Amino acid sequence: MFELWIALKDIPAEGREFHFTDQSLWTGPMDEYGVQAKPGKDFEARMFVTPQDEGFLVVGSFSGSVILPCDRCLKELDLPVSGDFESFEEPRAKDDDSLEVCRIRRGKNVLDLDVAGYLWEQFMLALPVNLLCDEECKGLCPNCGVNRNQESCACAQTEGDPRLAVLRNLKLS
Ligand SMILES: [Zn+2]
Ligand SMILES: [Zn+2]
Repeated sequence: MFELWIALKDIPAEGREFHFTDQSLWTGPMDEYGVQAKPGKDFEARMFVTPQDEGFLVVGSFSGSVILPCDRCLKELDLPVSGDFESFEEPRAKDDDSLEVCRIRRGKNVLDLDVAGYLWEQFMLALPVNLLCDEECKGLCPNCGVNRNQESCACAQTEGDPRLAVLRNLKLS
């Protein structure tokens, strides 16, 4: 896993802006977690970090793009992915076993922020769940595999609406 940590003690009281352009921040976890996306336009992130008594105030944004296939016809799409974020990151109390990921590491009298993990979370949140080249995408014929956006096949007529096919196959007991 690609790691990048910011040490709280290195940040002045008025805060500091970071600019991240290292693509492995995004491509590293994509490979590691087997996300079926290829890098498109380069990613970059700006992050303004202000130290607080016990943690960090993190404000910023990121943008870039990934190549992903349409859910229906598998056409590859260059998809812009961007987002804004603002959060307060603090170390977890020792007895707190919540499932939420803690991005703070406590070292010897210091706190570190897991920037790579933080940006990856933002990236995942911004990825669309359902991806279509077009709302009207007709997809691939499940029978012969032709792309129905480009050509029609003989099976298309007889098959009918796949939603109706489900109903037709329902057996009433
Ligand atoms: Zn499509
Ligand atoms: Zn067909």
